[in-house]
Amino acid sequence: MKKFLPLIILVTFLFGGCGMTTCERSEIAMGTVITLKATGSDAQAAIDESFTRIAELEENISADIKKIEESAGNGEFIKISPEVYEMLEIAQKYSELTNGAFDVTCGAAVELWGIGTKNPRVPTNEEITAVKNFVGREHLHLHSGKAQLDLRGVKLNLGGIAKGYGVNIARKIFIKHGIHDGLIDFGNSTIFAIGKKKIGIKNPDDPSKLAEIVELKDCAISTSGNYEKFFIVEDRRYAHIIDPKTCTPANSGISSISVVVFDDVKNCATVADIFSTAFFVTGLERAEEISRRQSHVKILSCSKRIK
Ligand code: ADP
Ligand code: MG
Repeated sequence: MKKFLPLIILVTFLFGGCGMTTCERSEIAMGTVITLKATGSDAQAAIDESFTRIAELEENISADIKKIEESAGNGEFIKISPEVYEMLEIAQKYSELTNGAFDVTCGAAVELWGIGTKNPRVPTNEEITAVKNFVGREHLHLHSGKAQLDLRGVKLNLGGIAKGYGVNIARKIFIKHGIHDGLIDFGNSTIFAIGKKKIGIKNPDDPSKLAEIVELKDCAISTSGNYEKFFIVEDRRYAHIIDPKTCTPANSGISSISVVVFDDVKNCATVADIFSTAFFVTGLERAEEISRRQSHVKILSCSKRIK
């Protein structure tokens, strides 16, 4: 028996002993359904800790945005949580790199159109012209953990980055708990595949069906499309991503675009989330140009708009 002992220990270690389990949990948070799946001896702890941290992130975002907006225009720099500060720093960096296609100061324009709310509407030209004064990254200032909006009425919207940042938080927690196989899925919008995983990309013309299934490993994928939050007026579809230059819904000819960023890039899911939104605004041609310069950002697939 003694001579078989090392073999038994090895087999137990390799094939699921040592409390090696697969756990899965879904919750509604950050305006979407988040599903976390993990395999490992610490899988449950990794998932539980991730959901706790995601809830904290969501609270910090609301509280910090409220504080910053309330003090907008009064010259004060407001101390905010380190994670919201980091998110805003990343947002500003990539706003510049995308020539303003991605811009978290688009909040006033997002609110004006109300797309994804119960009361979306096409604003008047006067309203659109007026709201342009309240959109622009030059209004957001960051310094030593503090933030300031220099004009009252400018609003922050982290809808295009927060899910990606949340994915990265969960990813770090999974690493800490030694998870080498799992999936971090924020509403099918930003996903991290730990180990080899098959990911379905929705067909924007019929989101109940998949356009394709891709196999990914150790990377983040983010998809931005016009098929979940939109409204139609006079046969025209207005979707939730705003072109910050025109303050109208982006009309670049894309109906869905998916971007992949690998794990060796810092905050890869955050970066993927940003670029899928930005590319939806710029259109495919400019997206390809940007992706050639930012070579860590790969365009995985893109569907053109029919109408
Ligand atoms: P989803 O949130 O559905 O996953 P995205 O990641 O593309 O989709 O983010 C879109 C959201 O980002 C919008 O609902 C809005 O809150 C915000 N947003 C809209 N336009 C922009 C923009 N040009 N730059 C940054 N954020 C934007
Ligand atoms: Mg995004």
